[in-house]
Amino acid sequence: MARILVVEDEEKISRFVEMELRHEGYETGKAQDGLTGLEMAESGDYDLMILDIMLPGINGLEVLRRLRKTSEMPVVLLTARDAVMDKVSGLEMGADDYMTKPFAIEELLARIRVALRKVEKSRKQGPVKNTLSCGDVVMEPDARGVTVRGTEVNLTAREFDLLKALIENKNIVLSRETLLNRVWGYDYFGETNVVDVYIRYLRHKIDDAFGISFINTVRGVGYIVKDA
Ligand code: CA
Repeated sequence: MARILVVEDEEKISRFVEMELRHEGYETGKAQDGLTGLEMAESGDYDLMILDIMLPGINGLEVLRRLRKTSEMPVVLLTARDAVMDKVSGLEMGADDYMTKPFAIEELLARIRVALRKVEKSRKQGPVKNTLSCGDVVMEPDARGVTVRGTEVNLTAREFDLLKALIENKNIVLSRETLLNRVWGYDYFGETNVVDVYIRYLRHKIDDAFGISFINTVRGVGYIVKDA
């Protein structure tokens, strides 16, 4: 089972996260400041790091920057609710994912599974073939091509990016806010129902056109696409 390092100075949060991780069968380690966290991460004893940005000593972004010089270990950042810049720079600096506090533990666990699976896959197969798929839908991100049951589907750039975000996170419910951030960007200040509008476009071109039920609504939460 994977070993997970939790770097977070808020005792309440780190204790809770550690408990949940152990409950899932992971081994855990814990650090409460940036430098200790970095040292533990660099020790090679862990498979993934959950890294809070606001830390005493050096902050999480600095930990990440230093770690990336020597290690590709998956990192899931914890950010404060409105720290937009932190998220952007975190992802640019090589974080694999981020969670905004307060977060649902199930979502964190799901993201950990995704990040660990990605590593395992690339270890097994070498460079991953650049195709994304979910059920009947196959995407080639480089060629920006999409097929459903082998038939090509024409999508606009925005529709493509939205579909990609959904499929990259298949089997995970994505909130409108998450989709908005990932597809339209953190600086988007237009209508928030734009996500629903584009989901409708996608459903028209995929679900309706092929008579399948691909994009599912999770009431009050968001959207999900599922394998099989
Ligand atoms: Ca903190």
